[in-house]
Formats: sequence, C-alpha cells, structure tokens
Amino acid sequence: MQSQKKYKPTFSIEFFPPKTEEGKQSLRKTREELANLNPAYISVTYGAGGSTQQGTVEAVLDIQQSGIEAAPHLTCVGSTKETVRALLDFYIDNGIKRIVALRGDMPSGMREAGEFRYANELVEFIRNETGDHFHIEVAAYPEFHPQAKSAKVDLENFKRKVEAGANGAITQYFYNTDAYYRFVDDCEKMGLDIPIVPGIMPITNFVQLARFSDMSGAEIPRWLRKRLEAFGDDLESIRAFGLDVTFDVARDLLEQGAPGLHFYCMNRSEPTTTLWHRLKP
Ligand code: FAD
Repeated sequence: MQSQKKYKPTFSIEFFPPKTEEGKQSLRKTREELANLNPAYISVTYGAGGSTQQGTVEAVLDIQQSGIEAAPHLTCVGSTKETVRALLDFYIDNGIKRIVALRGDMPSGMREAGEFRYANELVEFIRNETGDHFHIEVAAYPEFHPQAKSAKVDLENFKRKVEAGANGAITQYFYNTDAYYRFVDDCEKMGLDIPIVPGIMPITNFVQLARFSDMSGAEIPRWLRKRLEAFGDDLESIRAFGLDVTFDVARDLLEQGAPGLHFYCMNRSEPTTTLWHRLKP
C-alpha cells in the first residue's frame, strides 16, 4: 500500500444516465444534495445505445454547469474512432478534463467487436488524439475481471492500460479488503504507480446487490450474504446493517492508505451522504 499513501485522497461519486424525464429531474435533485459533500468530481456511466449515450452527455453538462467537475465514461463497445473523436472534441469545448475509459460489455444480441477491442486501445487513442488534455481513469478489479484467463493475465492487462497512459484507476466494488491490498501490492511489484481508488457500493438492497454481483464477479462474502438473507423482507434492517458493513470497509481502506473513495451512489443521495458524514473525509 506504500505507493498509495502519497496521493491526496480523492472522493468522487458515480451516476448513471436516467432514461425518463422524471429520472432526469430526480437526478438533478440528487446532484444538488450531493453538492454539499463537495466531491472532487461526479462521473457518469456510458451505455451502448444511442439514447443512453445522449443521456450521459446531458447529465455530464448538467453537472459541469453546476460547478462540480464532471467525468464522462467512454466505452469501446458502442463506439467507433469517429464517434469517440467527436465526443472528445465536444468534451474539450465544454471544459471537461477527466474521462473514465472502459471496454464496456456487449449488450445481448450484439456480437461484433468494434474498432476498439480493449480499454487499453481506447486509452491509447485518447492520448494520441488529445495529448495530456484529459486525466484518464480506468477500471481495476481486485477480485479479477470475470472473463480474465487468470489473475496474472488480468494484472498484465491492467498494466497495459497504465502503460497506454491512464492516470488513475477506480476499482469494481468489493467487501473483501484483502483483495484490494494484495492487488495494490501486486501493482507495486509490477512497477505501476498510479492512484487506485476503491469503488464503494453502499449496501441498501440485497436483491439488487446480488444481481450486480452475479454480473460483475464482485463477491458478496458468504457471511455477509447469509446475514443479509436472514433479514428477509425487513428492508430497514438490511439498510442499517448494510451501511454499517460498508462503513467498516471504507474506514479500513482509508486507514490503510487508500487514495480516496469512489461512491456508486445509484443516483440516490442518502446512502452516500450518510456514509460520507460518518467517514468525515
Ligand atoms: P478491459 O480492461 O479491456 O478488460 C476486459 C477483459 O479483457 C479482462 O478480462 C482483461 O483481462 C482482458 N483484456 C484486457 N486487455 C486485453 C488485451 N489487450 N488482450 C487480451 N485481453 C485483454 N461498463 C459500461 O458499459 N459503461 C460504463 O460506464 C462502465 N463504467 C464502469 C466504471 C468502473 C469504475 C468499473 C469498474 C466498471 C465499469 N463498467 C462500465 C463495466 C466494464 O465495462 C466491464 O467490467 C467490462 O467487462 C470490462 O471493462 P474494462 O474497461 O475493465 O475492460
């Protein structure tokens, strides 16, 4: 963890683009409430479909115009060199300085890989096109990416993204802090020296968390799953216990020298605000 301790901790938040007018209004309210926390930036995820891509652009502009730094995500899936180039120009014109560059996942029914196959190719393209304009974040997987051939190969692939020009990384969420500490130590051994900020998913809803975890390979430890299951339909207890567990994870990470936290807020202000106030970053 030594490499991480020199970085000034960065506290950031992630949104996804709303699909309806009602969702847009609600997200604006969430953004206003979260502004009180003074986050370093708010990032917005990016999907493969045209309408969700437009939603990302709208949410990014809304955040940026409110005075908070906005960081759009960009994915290989659903993009061509031409569309990425146009978006980069648009973001430069609108004062955007930070991008989260990802591969993305193929929507079911879509098969063809696009012009970018892996995130390292997208990072390289952004660097070649725009020099040092953007601070580029990439994804990291302390419990390893579900499609990785092996832990070793996944680490080597992570290295490719750093060598292509990533300035920082945000991790998939996890509740097993040892996985993160070992991942960071392995990166240090490979000579990688960028901030690797843990992604924090506040636990408030077990069914939703279990679904995300099945898709992303982020493990819910057995003891945690069993305890959450035991609450049954008692949503209030799930939420109270879940936030306690998430708080313990986040506090431990900061005490051990993690360079900040990135909150997957699920477009809601309350769980992140509660954790933030308890952590007092
Ligand atoms: P990559 O780094 O390209 O890795 C994908 C897989 O390919 C890994 O198994 C890796 O080991 C392997 N690999 C990598 N490079 C190579 C190579 N050169 N040759 C061979 N194999 C290689 N998804 C979205 O659709 N939109 C979003 O906005 C979004 N935001 C995210 C934000 C964060 C912080 C995180 C952690 C994930 C996000 N995701 C998002 C999900 C992400 O797109 C998926 O997890 C995706 O499956 C992998 O993306 P990646 O950028 O990590 O891919």
